Amino acid sequence: MTYVKKDVKYDNFLKAKEHQWECDKCDCTFSKYPSLKEHKTETHSY
Ligand SMILES: [Zn+2]
Repeated sequence: MTYVKKDVKYDNFLKAKEHQWECDKCDCTFSKYPSLKEHKTETHSY
């Protein structure tokens, strides 16, 4: 089974989970929502 997100294919669920949170300002992906929030705060000054 493969997990497809946009045009990227993940070969297992764990990998897909590692990239489940994606920044809408750039192409960064994060495994945890707090990491995404922190990224947005630091990089995009939300
Ligand atoms: Zn970003």
